[in-house]
Amino acid sequence: MIVVINNDAEKKDVESFKEKMVDLGFKLHESQGENSYLIGLIGDTTTLDPEKIRANRIVKKLVIVQEPYKKANKMFNHGDAVVEMGDKKIGDGYFAVIAGPCSVESQEQVLDIARSIKESGASCLRGGAFKPRTSPYSFQGLGREGLEFLLNAKKETGLPIVTELMSPLQVEKYVDFVDVIQIGARNMQNYDLLREAGRANKPVLIKRGMSATIEELLMSAEYVLSEGNKNVILCERGIRSFQKETRNVLDLSSVPLLKSKTHLPVIVDPSHATGVWSLVEPMSKAAVAAGADGIMVEVHNDPANALSDGQQSIKPDRFDNLMKTIKPYLDIENKKLS
Ligand code: PEP
Ligand code: MN
Repeated sequence: MIVVINNDAEKKDVESFKEKMVDLGFKLHESQGENSYLIGLIGDTTTLDPEKIRANRIVKKLVIVQEPYKKANKMFNHGDAVVEMGDKKIGDGYFAVIAGPCSVESQEQVLDIARSIKESGASCLRGGAFKPRTSPYSFQGLGREGLEFLLNAKKETGLPIVTELMSPLQVEKYVDFVDVIQIGARNMQNYDLLREAGRANKPVLIKRGMSATIEELLMSAEYVLSEGNKNVILCERGIRSFQKETRNVLDLSSVPLLKSKTHLPVIVDPSHATGVWSLVEPMSKAAVAAGADGIMVEVHNDPANALSDGQQSIKPDRFDNLMKTIKPYLDIENKKLS
């Protein structure tokens, strides 16, 4: 339930209303806009009598929110959120391009890629140090050493780092290394991990699970937000289907859908969504046109010998071309590259 407060309400009356709601067991989510002030009540609002709330002189309007996600709900917030990833911004007109290898393989590899994507104008460097692989016999990532390689690449290029953390124990241990904590598709509903990420003071990028609904994705965001972390970015990375030409099916309609339901930034990962390097550029253009706030693209300097996801990774020169290609689309959408 959202309580819209009258502009001329007395501060002390608002405070006593808030106290009463807290005493009744509700959590409050306040949002101050230019022309209005909202108090979102989080909890079981079926116990409240809307008529009694409306009778309070401070109340301008009551909005009953049917959706189970509250803090992630556009209605609970004024305007689109801007999330800061290191010194880069995403959301509300800021567009971010996150690029880099699927896995960090060596210091040279990640430095080489970081230098070239920086040159092409990328906003952030991605790279997996802890890899969620389908097979336990596949390359599992370099772990902490991989994070150090990423950190060195950040030192040289200044690019903020986006990297996946897979266990709740890693969050506390490695949070200082990263600029953005990535929650992978396979962990989208790992609630302990989401809660732990919610307690960290770093933005959290949540990738859509391969069979997750839009509402489930928003509920995962709610887990992070409910711990007090306001900086959540959502990522569409394709969902499972029956056909085999692409790795997944890029559900582009989820972008405008999500953006109609939440104030949080939404990005698209065309690499995992298609699994085919030649489809990355067209789907990046489509993502911008669909209203995405960013893209996450796998770039590798030697895809043929990549330790993971070589088939969907583009080479640095193609990435450079992609950056040039999306520019006019960004202009049409009135988005500023971060
Ligand atoms: C990744 O970004 O490298 C990754 C493993 O993606 P996803 O979780 O979307 O499969
Ligand atoms: Mn990958």
